[in-house]
Amino acid sequence: MLDQAVIILILISFIDLLFGLFVLYKDPKARVNRSFFLMALAALVWINASYFEDEFRNPEVMNIFLKADFSSGAFLAFFILLFCLDIAKTKISNNAYFRFTLYAIPVLLTSAVVLTKFIISGYEITQIGTINPTFGEGELIYDVLVFLALLIGVIVVAKNFRKASPEDKSQFIYLFIGLFLFVVIVSLTNIILTSYIENSLNYGLYTRLGIFSIVFVVVFSGYSIVKHRLLNLKIITTELLSLGILVFSLFQILSAQTLSDLLVNIILFIIYFIFTILLVRSVENEVKRKEELQKISDALAIANERLKELDMTKSEFISIASHQLRTPLTAIKGYISLLLEGSYGVVPAPIQDVLDKVYSVNNRLVHLVEDLLNVSRIEAGRIQYSFAPTQLEPLIAELVDMFSPTAKGKKLSLTMRLPEKPLPQLTLDPNKIKEVLSNLIDNALKYTKEGGVAVSLEGTSKVARIVVSDTGIGIHPEDKKNLFEKFLRSKETTKMVVSGAGLGLYVGKSFIEAHGGKIWAESDGPNKGSRFIIELPLVNPNIHVGTSDQPSQKTA
Ligand code: ADP
Repeated sequence: MLDQAVIILILISFIDLLFGLFVLYKDPKARVNRSFFLMALAALVWINASYFEDEFRNPEVMNIFLKADFSSGAFLAFFILLFCLDIAKTKISNNAYFRFTLYAIPVLLTSAVVLTKFIISGYEITQIGTINPTFGEGELIYDVLVFLALLIGVIVVAKNFRKASPEDKSQFIYLFIGLFLFVVIVSLTNIILTSYIENSLNYGLYTRLGIFSIVFVVVFSGYSIVKHRLLNLKIITTELLSLGILVFSLFQILSAQTLSDLLVNIILFIIYFIFTILLVRSVENEVKRKEELQKISDALAIANERLKELDMTKSEFISIASHQLRTPLTAIKGYISLLLEGSYGVVPAPIQDVLDKVYSVNNRLVHLVEDLLNVSRIEAGRIQYSFAPTQLEPLIAELVDMFSPTAKGKKLSLTMRLPEKPLPQLTLDPNKIKEVLSNLIDNALKYTKEGGVAVSLEGTSKVARIVVSDTGIGIHPEDKKNLFEKFLRSKETTKMVVSGAGLGLYVGKSFIEAHGGKIWAESDGPNKGSRFIIELPLVNPNIHVGTSDQPSQKTA
């Protein structure tokens, strides 16, 4: 059966290769990842060559492995140097000639080792059956070059440590931890331990532990390269767990006692391997998607916050501007009324006509300013309601009365239909309801050229329903759903009537909802007239007589 050392060797080779491939797969274009892969590959050959050079009983084969050991050792040292230069982001490592030189030196050393007796002149087999090289004149050159490569690598990283970014710093630290463990274990096993346990059965294993420990350099620095992609706990856990399962299942293969066991374990290993790749990929994708979503939602939250601020500033501006406008407009309204009433003397007919026009235009402005103020109050939640028991019939009659002259002026009919039996009193804010209704009647008259407007009131067991219908321009189905939004005016409207800011329905909706009621529009289409319907609950437990700031109490 397999020797303990062979099992460890295979497991370590597997981990080494897995890390190398994993790091390369993560970002095959990045220099650091490529030099890491080369380093892991050289370490793999070096570990195996160092092991097998002492394992075979055939000196010729042992000699081949010995040469492979020295060749891969040179590559390993120079790839470590390359890796150090890359993670330290040195300028020189971008230079193609320099990189070429770093590849060329181990190639030359390998040629010398394999083809000449300059570095290794021969070999001798020791009493315990291991192989030792005999060196040629070039040994010193080999030693110095390998030593220098490692030394320069370490110095470059150490020198760049202080000015490195925190992320790079952590890469350096991981590399140093790996190197430190390697050096400590090599010293421990090859220098200290071996002199005590030279006769131990496990002598071979102990001395090799030093070489095997190069895997720490690979594992630690490999981890540090892909770490920022692994910061997510879910990914780390999945990957560590998968690695654990894979190593365990490889161990199962290596310790199989029978051929059938071996086959089953190999099949299981392959299944685990495929499964692991799929699992890790799907977890990574999921996390990536989540991170992207998070980023988008963070950006949206910031944008939203900014918009809210802007909206607040705008509302405040409108509120202040409207307040400033209201006072002079009301004063103008008052003076024109006095003029028209003849308080300053008799007004000649032509001027009376002009004054009428001025009065009506000014009135529109007063309404607009009132609507603007209402909008900013609604948005700030500062609308005040004075609820009182109210009879709807007289309220409607008063409004219809008020609009009769306008209807007459436009040659439109304005009719009213009230229930035979008066409805019970409703608790509501009569001024607000008046405002809403007067806007509806005003609109109906505004948007109707011929025919007329009808206002009706009826009661069911639960609600009072007020309908304002007209024979006017109607509503396009597309406009219907947005009609109650701020500043919305249909295209036809804009063409037909110049005045109007598209605020009345928005304010009205807010007022009606604060009463626990509903308001909506119906129309059979353009030029087929419109119906605006308000439903107010006969009894609303949320509304009490008196003043309230409650802005809205929506019904379900
Ligand atoms: P304004 O009438 O000042 O534009 P409103 O908020 O009262 O603002 O109305 C919003 C829009 O709804 C109007 O511009 C118009 O397009 C549409 N609208 C309202 N009442 C009627 C109606 N009786 N017939 C047709 N369209 C209407």
